[in-house]
Amino acid sequence: MRMKYLKTTIGLMLLLLTSFTNAPERTVYICNGPQSVAYHLTSKCRGLDRCSTEIQALTESQAINKGRRLCKICGKH
Ligand SMILES: [Zn+2]
Repeated sequence: MRMKYLKTTIGLMLLLLTSFTNAPERTVYICNGPQSVAYHLTSKCRGLDRCSTEIQALTESQAINKGRRLCKICGKH
């Protein structure tokens, strides 16, 4: 019983560690339009409503490399 509990705890810690390590690589969304400067945490963001071209999903670091900044609407917590 104890071993099983320990295994679960280690598994949970690994999961937390993995998600922490992967934090900068979360999936974000950008509008491919020429006037878009932000990236969004959700494809449902109203900042993307005005997007006239396609919405692209990519990693956060890729969006930053494109010169995008975190959206002020969906980036707030
Ligand atoms: Zn947004």
